[in-house]
Amino acid sequence: MNEVVQNNPIKQNLLDLDREGLECFFADTLGEKRYRAHQVMKWIHHRHVTQFEDMTDLGKALRAKLETHAEVRVPQVQFDKPSEDGTHKWLLGMDGRNAIETVYIPDKGRGTLCVSSQVGCALNCTFCSTATQGFNRNLSTAEIVGQVWTAARHLGNVPHKQRRLTNVVMMGMGEPLANFDNVVRAMSVMRDDLGYGLANKRVTLSTAGMVPMIDRLAQESDVSLAVSLHAPNDELRDQLVPLNKKYPIEELMAACVRYAKRKKGESVTFEYTLMKDVNDQPQQARELVRLLRAFDNAVQMKDAAKVNLIPFNPFPGTRYQRPDETAIRAFQKLLNDAGMIAPVRRTRGDDIDAACGQLKGQVADRTRRQAEFRKTLDARGEREAGGNEPGAAHAA
Ligand code: SF4
Repeated sequence: MNEVVQNNPIKQNLLDLDREGLECFFADTLGEKRYRAHQVMKWIHHRHVTQFEDMTDLGKALRAKLETHAEVRVPQVQFDKPSEDGTHKWLLGMDGRNAIETVYIPDKGRGTLCVSSQVGCALNCTFCSTATQGFNRNLSTAEIVGQVWTAARHLGNVPHKQRRLTNVVMMGMGEPLANFDNVVRAMSVMRDDLGYGLANKRVTLSTAGMVPMIDRLAQESDVSLAVSLHAPNDELRDQLVPLNKKYPIEELMAACVRYAKRKKGESVTFEYTLMKDVNDQPQQARELVRLLRAFDNAVQMKDAAKVNLIPFNPFPGTRYQRPDETAIRAFQKLLNDAGMIAPVRRTRGDDIDAACGQLKGQVADRTRRQAEFRKTLDARGEREAGGNEPGAAHAA
């Protein structure tokens, strides 16, 4: 008699599904009641349990079905590293060749997790450490949610109790709007009461300015929007953020106006990384005020535009420098004197390279950008022994 060889069925990673997806999986694949999905979500996201045998309020038969058809596969922690100032960084293995970093930043009354959306980034902003690493691929929903799961478990975070993880910013490696579906689905889990229970306002997506996708985001999600602006005019922004050549400032601001207007009282945050003698001059502060005042007027709301000033964090091989404290304060004062909210983001996690622009991942680069960057460093004699060049980060 011929032996029947059964292939292992491909198991569905439940971290890949939001509430709706999980309900469908329970109904269509398992033939179970949809509400069973809610119990499983709580086990995974509130109690951080990944083994079905430990989900004790599920019947034996259901647990057996889940074993056959599903799994809860979380990212592999390659290392985690606390900083003296409370910042915590994880290097998470996403497959055999790529790893990304996730950073937790506690502050007065809040704890923010900076989450990555891609392995590397294809956009090549000239001041960004991630850009030097090139691009490999989008992260799946499970890989994005897995970053939150890992931090929440470490922090003992449970929704509806005193939480240490209060905010998520999609501001790590990658351009989140270039990985739209996976990011939107992951943000839905972050905001779901059965997931991480974060209010819409407390989940922020930061984009370099993919205009059509900002409009799509307005239709499909309800999170806070941040834009990596970094320059008040097209001439300079074309140099810093090459995507600007495709979607210049006027189009970008118009999309931001549409986003802010979809809901009364919504503001948009504009990230502005200050680089010495590049974009930190008084004239540029005045230009920025004009640009953002026009935004406020178009939205018809005072302080519709908020600015985050981020002093540049230098990395080996970069041509940019951080302005001195006097220049940073002078730039901020010009904005404040014009009545704008413009905090300077404090550098956190310096001792573990977790400050903005310093995240390191491991990118199996498919764009050859790493090799070009190494060549530049070699030519300048700046590469450290062992090939230790800078790693990844977004938006700053
Ligand atoms: S700043 Fe953001 S969008 Fe630009 S290259 Fe870096 S990660 Fe990509």
